[in-house]
Amino acid sequence: AKRVYLFNEGNKDDRELLGGKGANLCEMTSLGLPVPFGFIITTATCREYFQAGNKLPGLLEQEYRVALDLVEKKMDARFGDPEDPLLFSVRSGAPVSMPGMMNTILNLGLNDEIAEGLARKTNNPRFAYDCYRRFISMFADVVMGVPGEKFEHEIEKYKAANNKKTDVEMDAEDWQAIIEIYKTLVDFPEDPFEQLKMAVEAVFQSWHTPRAIIYREMNNIPDTLGTAVNVQAMVFGNFGEDSGSGVAFTRNPSTGEHHFFGEFLFNAAGEDVVAGIRTPLPVEALRERQPEVYDELFSTQALLEKHYRDMQDLEFTVQEGRFYMLQTRSGKRTGRAAVKIAVDMVGEGLIDEREALMRVSPEHVEAFLHPTVDPDAKQDIIASGLPASPGGATGEIVFSAEEAEQVSAQGRSVILVRRETTPEDIHGMKVAAGILTELGGMTSHAAVVARGMGVCAITGCGSLNINYAEGTAHTDDGVQLKRGDIITLDGASGEVMLGDIPKTEASSSDDFQTLLSWADKHRRLKVRANAETPEDAAKARELGAEGIGLCRTEHMFFEARRIEQMRAMILAESQEERQKYLDALLEFQRADMLELFKVMDGLPVTIRLLDPPLHEFLPHEEADMQALAEAIGKPLEKVREITEGLAEVNPMLGFRGCRLSIVYPEITEMQVQAIMSAAADAVEQGYRPLPEIMIPLVVNVREIRLISEIIDRGVQAVLRERLVSVPYKVGTMMETPRATLGADRLAPEVEFMSFGTNDLTQMTYGFSRDDAGKFIPRYIEKKLVDADPFVSLDQRAVGRLMEMAVNESRRVKKGIKYGICGEHGGDPRSIRFCHNLGLDYVSCSPFRVPIARIAAAQANV
Ligand code: PEP
Ligand code: MG
Repeated sequence: AKRVYLFNEGNKDDRELLGGKGANLCEMTSLGLPVPFGFIITTATCREYFQAGNKLPGLLEQEYRVALDLVEKKMDARFGDPEDPLLFSVRSGAPVSMPGMMNTILNLGLNDEIAEGLARKTNNPRFAYDCYRRFISMFADVVMGVPGEKFEHEIEKYKAANNKKTDVEMDAEDWQAIIEIYKTLVDFPEDPFEQLKMAVEAVFQSWHTPRAIIYREMNNIPDTLGTAVNVQAMVFGNFGEDSGSGVAFTRNPSTGEHHFFGEFLFNAAGEDVVAGIRTPLPVEALRERQPEVYDELFSTQALLEKHYRDMQDLEFTVQEGRFYMLQTRSGKRTGRAAVKIAVDMVGEGLIDEREALMRVSPEHVEAFLHPTVDPDAKQDIIASGLPASPGGATGEIVFSAEEAEQVSAQGRSVILVRRETTPEDIHGMKVAAGILTELGGMTSHAAVVARGMGVCAITGCGSLNINYAEGTAHTDDGVQLKRGDIITLDGASGEVMLGDIPKTEASSSDDFQTLLSWADKHRRLKVRANAETPEDAAKARELGAEGIGLCRTEHMFFEARRIEQMRAMILAESQEERQKYLDALLEFQRADMLELFKVMDGLPVTIRLLDPPLHEFLPHEEADMQALAEAIGKPLEKVREITEGLAEVNPMLGFRGCRLSIVYPEITEMQVQAIMSAAADAVEQGYRPLPEIMIPLVVNVREIRLISEIIDRGVQAVLRERLVSVPYKVGTMMETPRATLGADRLAPEVEFMSFGTNDLTQMTYGFSRDDAGKFIPRYIEKKLVDADPFVSLDQRAVGRLMEMAVNESRRVKKGIKYGICGEHGGDPRSIRFCHNLGLDYVSCSPFRVPIARIAAAQANV
């Protein structure tokens, strides 16, 4: 197959084959934009390279040499010719954007003779030798594995010895001297064609660098895609003061405001802007100095945004007053920006509601749910930088990604403080509550990555002076900070504060509500919440929950005073004694239920009968047993004896769920009485309660029959006594494999089935929920599973059981309502699966409700 494509041979839909960057370069070329010409080696060639055991296909060089000749013609210069040299950039480009994760080599095609020729031809020796030294260190670092710091170190040494401070003060002779030093550090190939071949291989190989692998894991990008290689004629932002490089967004990537937003560095290469080595100027600086260039940039960004119908992130270069486009792609954005842009674009007629919904990811939605620093509580502002990624975060200062990992592994919150970040720091950024950097603009690595992760970040905090060796930092105002000190970041304002500053709950926005209303319009699945307290239920309703899908009644007893009654009830030695404690529990339960019914007025409330893993409720410490013994007036010995008697080898498979109702029917009787009395109270107070009583951990239909009978009897007793009518339903959890396999037999006895995929996953895998955390990370690392099955539903097996259960029960009885209430009910991928399965609702924790509403809509558009 064709392995090499010129920029005029593809378009934006060729991402799979040409990578995102290449496809967009082709698209821009066909739009007639000023793109330096070049060619792309396909992602298929990359896969071929790996399959052959890291060998370039035999005919590849021949093929790209033809393309290269055509590029030379177009650019009117020749690769490897000292008289008229053409240089290339060689860049990676995966089908899915992986910013900064893979290798790039710039200024390729130089050696001593060609550098001299470039100096002569351009009449700009300083520029030529600047390019040459950049090339040597980059090629050495990226292709030959000589660490880049070695080269930087030599520059620092040279500058110190020659009393030069910045790169700007370095002239041609200085760079030549540096080049001589560099040549003692690395023996790079003189032949430009050899350089090119090695660079192509290095780009392919960078697909497998650790940072690229981590990035793919974090973003669920398949390992098998491979990268394309973009070989493009160089243009030079470092040519002089009428040149420069910039990065821009067609709208503000932080707030979403419809306002062109960019940064520019005069006399600098693109790498200088992205690396955040010098803090760039706002792009308006270009308007002042080179208005025609600015106008061209401005009209280009407008054209690209309209063409792609999405906010674009652009890279451009100006050489001697001429404007060139180097890259365009969909810009990474904060959650707030994503929502605002999507909603605005519908208003502008660029996209429709369905497309707007697809533009927003679960991470974006989370941004509306993150805490923000309370503006009234702000104090001790010690420094401020750029508001790179919103949110408020408090934590201990750490100065390296490694430390960040260590400290956060101990359960402590960290703020990662760096001069700048590089992709090497990803593992630390991932665990940090916030990120603070001394250098770098809004488009620096730290800013872009943090925004993508939804982590609060402040960049370009220039008044901070970091000393890595000592583990300290001080501000220009003399505030001393050291490792372990607590600071708070306000990612929305860019302010850094001492200590832990109060944060307020995340707030919504009109745009967000608009988007959610579209989600509701376009989804079929209902969204309920898992909640047991009135506060959680109220939050859930506020966030759009359409009922409660799981009220874990045992959670109502976690509170201190109640747990004692609960424990006493468990330890009771006779039915009379148990009844005494049940009577006390009844009052709690009834009061709580009433509140829930009020909050969820007119919406279904699914109440699950008690399902306590008993070990969670029993005292283990001697002192606790002593206290309990005193409280319930039993000798310590007795308490210990009963507790030991109740100890289970595997409590997760133990005396739980409906097994409890079977052994102690009086518990179920109490619960039913509590539920229905509360419902009757609610009716009398003018509310419309819709209780759904749910039986947990069922394995066969006989259990359901037995317990339904208790439920019905209890319900009728209350309703008769109170003389009210309350609609109620009885249903079952589907959380044992046996229940799912016998769903056709359960069906006639129930009105709803709710998949408890936490237990169903546990029992399908035979992985105990309590212990899986010890080995699942290894499973993921070794790619034995694609994702933690307790987070994202295992569609192959657990999903198959669900599918069988739905289909077979539906065959027997129409009208059963199907739901899911395991953790998976809030996971977008699992929600899509549930939608396709035809479930009626998902139920998830209150804060996931908005995410679930959007995910449900995305599954349906
Ligand atoms: C489940 O098993 O999925 C479930 C919702 O119940 P719990 O997590 O309380 O066991
Ligand atoms: Mg369960």
